[in-house]
Amino acid sequence: MDRAYLEIIFLCGFVLQVVLRSYYVQYYVTEKHKRYFNKKERLFLLFIFVGFQLLPLLYVFSDWFAFFDYNLPKWLAFPSSMLYGFGIWLFFRAHADLGKYWSPGLEIKADHQLITTGVFKWVRHPMYAAFVAIAIAQVFMLQNWIVGPAFLLLAIPFYMNRVKREEGQLLRYFGEQYRNYMHTTNALFPRKEQIDFSLIFARLKFSVKNKG
Ligand code: SAH
Repeated sequence: MDRAYLEIIFLCGFVLQVVLRSYYVQYYVTEKHKRYFNKKERLFLLFIFVGFQLLPLLYVFSDWFAFFDYNLPKWLAFPSSMLYGFGIWLFFRAHADLGKYWSPGLEIKADHQLITTGVFKWVRHPMYAAFVAIAIAQVFMLQNWIVGPAFLLLAIPFYMNRVKREEGQLLRYFGEQYRNYMHTTNALFPRKEQIDFSLIFARLKFSVKNKG
């Protein structure tokens, strides 16, 4: 696959992500909530904007960064596009699973319940895990030393700070219930014992048999 196709796929995912995210943010804004981002978080969010939005758009629509381009083997195009698609799917699946408890900042709602089902069964931070997948895919899809790793590197301060604050708040509110959840479920990658390969193979076998 040509690198231009990868850039087009990246752009489509980008637009999809912006459109879907606006859908969720729209409800939030109408609720007239206080801003939950402190000064430090706002600075870290600016880093993310640069790494995931500004630089990729400038890269795709200009040749300013052409000098720093690299060329990866063509076979990497398919797995990296799949990883990108998976990241976007996971991001919105997590929004759907979190439902009314989602908020762009840190917030405990009036009747806040701890969600441990759907993708929250696999990891405690599926949205952040989705961004890890998208950020890694960006390295392979936007093949440029500045733009490719920009999101991956510039997002680190935000997520280090965010996870610590978010988990502190959830621990204070849910206490033992959240502590138990932490014991059984990893933050970003599922536990080995949660990935039941025998079940996956059994399902694959079943669908192959049904097709045949
Ligand atoms: N860290 C999560 C959610 C990010 S949205 C993820 O990566 O998917 C941030 C809001 O979600 C915060 O207000 C937090 O209180 C809430 N939240 C995070 N995990 C939750 C859970 N398991 N159940 C209910 N609310 C949760």
